[in-house]
Amino acid sequence: MDYLVHQRRLLPHIAKSYALGFAQNELISAMHRIQSMPATEVDPQEQRELEGRAAGLKVVNTWHAARAIQESREACGGAGYMAENRLTSLRADVDVFTTFEGDNHVLTQLVAKELLTAYADEVRGMSPVEWMRFAADTISDVVKKRTAAQQIIQTILDTRQDNEEDGSLFNRGTQLTMFEDREQYLLSTAARRLQAATKREDNPFDAFNFVQDHVLHAARAHIDRVVLEAFVAAIDDCTDEATCDLLSDLCDLFALTVIDEDKAWFMEHRHLSVERSKAVLRGINERCRTLRPHVMTLVEGLGVPEYLLGSAMLDREGAAGS
Ligand SMILES: Cc1cc2nc3c(=O)[nH]c(=O)nc-3n(C[C@H](O)[C@H](O)[C@H](O)COP(=O)(O)OP(=O)(O)OC[C@H]3O[C@@H](n4cnc5c(N)ncnc54)[C@H](O)[C@@H]3O)c2cc1C
Repeated sequence: MDYLVHQRRLLPHIAKSYALGFAQNELISAMHRIQSMPATEVDPQEQRELEGRAAGLKVVNTWHAARAIQESREACGGAGYMAENRLTSLRADVDVFTTFEGDNHVLTQLVAKELLTAYADEVRGMSPVEWMRFAADTISDVVKKRTAAQQIIQTILDTRQDNEEDGSLFNRGTQLTMFEDREQYLLSTAARRLQAATKREDNPFDAFNFVQDHVLHAARAHIDRVVLEAFVAAIDDCTDEATCDLLSDLCDLFALTVIDEDKAWFMEHRHLSVERSKAVLRGINERCRTLRPHVMTLVEGLGVPEYLLGSAMLDREGAAGS
C-alpha cells in the first residue's frame, strides 16, 4: 500500500464502497418508512422514485463489486489467483449480479426513462413505442429532485465562498455543483434531443436509438449525484470529529474519482479547464497519500464478517500489517 500506484488502484474502490454503503442505507431507510405506512398514505410518486433509486443502486453496486474484486485480485499478484485466498470465488459469485435481476444497461435505461418522464404513473407498463410518444409530450421540463439530504446540500451550496472555476476541488460545494450541473445538463439535453428525434424520425425505435448513449449517460450522472449526496448526509450525521475528518477525505477521493472518470465530458462541455483537470489528478494523489495511514481503519470500518477474514496469504511471514 506504500506504492502510489497501489493506492490509486485500491483506495478509490474503498471510497466508493463507503459511498455506496451510505446510499444503500438511505435507500433501506426510505423503503422501511414507505413500507411501514398504511397503503392509503403512500405517495405513488415517492414509491416510484424509490424503485428507480433501487434499480440505479443495483447497477452501480454490482459493477463496483465486480471491478473492485478484479482489481484486488490483480493487486495481490499470483497469490490473488490462488483459490485458497478466495478472491477468485468471490469474483465468480458477484459476476452474475451485473445481469440477473435485470441487465445493468437495461436497468440504467429504466432509471433514465423514469427521470425523463418525472416518474409519471402513466409510464408504467408502456411499450417502448408508447413511452417515446408519451415522452415527446412530457419531457420538456425535466426537474431535478433532491435526495433526503436536501437541507444539508442546500446549506453547503448557499454558504460556499468560491466558484467552480477558482474554488478548491476539495470544496464540497464545488464537487456537488459539478455533479448537479452534469446531471441537469445531460438530462435536459437528452430530453431536447429525444423530442427533436421524435419529430424527425418516423419510427420511435430509431428516434430513441439515436440518443440512447446520451440517455444512459444522464442516468449514470443522476446515480452518481444521489450517491454523493448520501455520502455528504452521512458525514453530516457523524458526531465523532476524527471520523468525520476521515470520511470527509474519503468523500473527496470518491468525488474526484468520479470527475476523473468522466473528465472528457467535463472538458468537452467546458465544466473543467485543462489546468483544473490536472488539479483533479493531483487532488486524487493527495487524498491517496492522506488516507494511506488509515487504510486498516477504513477496511475494518466496512465491517467484513469475521468468517470471511484470515485469507491464507495474510498468514505468510511478513504479511502482517501490510
Ligand atoms: C444465474 C442466473 C439466474 C437467474 N435466475 C432467475 C430467476 O430465478 N428468475 C427469473 O425470473 N430470472 C432469472 N434469471 C434471468 C435474469 O433475470 C435475466 O438473465 C436478466 O434479467 C437479463 O435478461 P436476459 O438474459 O434476457 O438478457 P437481455 O436483457 O436480453 O440482455 C442481453 C444483452 O443485450 C443488451 N440489451 C438488452 N436490451 C437492451 C436495450 N434495450 N438496449 C441496449 N442493449 C440491450 C443487454 O445489455 C445485454 O448485454 C437468471 C439469470 C441468470 C444468469
